[in-house]
Amino acid sequence: MRSRPRWAGRRALAAEPRFIGSEIYRGSCYGPWHPLRVPRVSTVMDLSRALGWLGPERFITSPRAKPAALRAFHTDDYIAAVQAAEAAGAVSDAVRARHHLGTPSNPVFAEMFRRPATACGAAILAGELLAGGGVIYSPAGGTHHGLPDRANGFCYFNDPVLAILSLRRNGAARVAYVDIDAHHPDGVEAAFGQDPEVLMISVHEENRWPRSGRLEDCGAGQVHNLPVPAGFNDTEMALVLDQVILPLVADFRPDAVVLQCGADAVAEDPQSRLALSNNAHWAVVAALRPLSSRYLVLGGGGYNPWSVGRLWTGVWATLAGAEIPDQLPEAGQAVLRALTWDVRGRARRAEAHWLTTLRDPARDGPIGADLRARAAVLAGRRRAWA
Ligand SMILES: [Zn+2]
Repeated sequence: MRSRPRWAGRRALAAEPRFIGSEIYRGSCYGPWHPLRVPRVSTVMDLSRALGWLGPERFITSPRAKPAALRAFHTDDYIAAVQAAEAAGAVSDAVRARHHLGTPSNPVFAEMFRRPATACGAAILAGELLAGGGVIYSPAGGTHHGLPDRANGFCYFNDPVLAILSLRRNGAARVAYVDIDAHHPDGVEAAFGQDPEVLMISVHEENRWPRSGRLEDCGAGQVHNLPVPAGFNDTEMALVLDQVILPLVADFRPDAVVLQCGADAVAEDPQSRLALSNNAHWAVVAALRPLSSRYLVLGGGGYNPWSVGRLWTGVWATLAGAEIPDQLPEAGQAVLRALTWDVRGRARRAEAHWLTTLRDPARDGPIGADLRARAAVLAGRRRAWA
């Protein structure tokens, strides 16, 4: 009988999906009028624990990235400006103009350095932990708009970029980045749009901020942007998954896959006009898993506290192999009942199924002619990577 290889135990351990989180997200808020006033990661942690899916052996407390680590993508001046703004609780007009800090989108708030630096710490650690293969979930990640010298679109630092750089430092030469947030990942494309070793696929709402990510853009031949019309439904996402995302990623033969799983493309989200159910996201999460030995799933947008909490908890269930019950047990319902959401100064009432289930009803629908034609353009670009 052959002896068990020495690495077998380690590989088995690495195959256990792990969740990187932190208590810093609990109670941290961008301000009473900002879309990111709502709890998100803490809901996912509480709900996953209430359902028995997140034992201590699966959970890793996120380290906070130090300025030296953030320098892999961000400038010294900008990192220092974010730290100084957190310390002072204010910014000068010059800093606001140069680094876009202290604006309505990117406000000064109590944890404005520590919170994004913690998401970046998770991203960098994930690249290291995945050196031997495995699956990691960092729902606080996905801040895909961050730019080297300035904040952009609620994002102070760009953890997906830092994750990809960390994966590369740790042995993954070819990385496939897939982004299903409602918004185009302009910061990630700024970093890797001309890099043939980083496949980029983004599905985002057309004519929505930041208004980049055109179908025609192709970077170094590896950038694939699919702007989708308002009303984008589950049937259309299934077509995009089968005809665009999976064939492109499979052809690329990546050493790692990074999925930005923003939750703002669902019908309940206030920041987009897309109409997916959370089933669409979970299908993407599951289908990408077999295409690489290293798999990192990040969060992103998501501004309805119930829909984002339910969606991202279902992402963890999908990764961890947990069965999602039709009806949540009382402990899970209690987590969702405790959430509140003020919209224009009034408490928004939760719909009944937001409190009792994780899974939305499917939102199937017709496949639009525009959508079908655009998907065909990207599918037609497929080529075999040598
Ligand atoms: Zn978004």
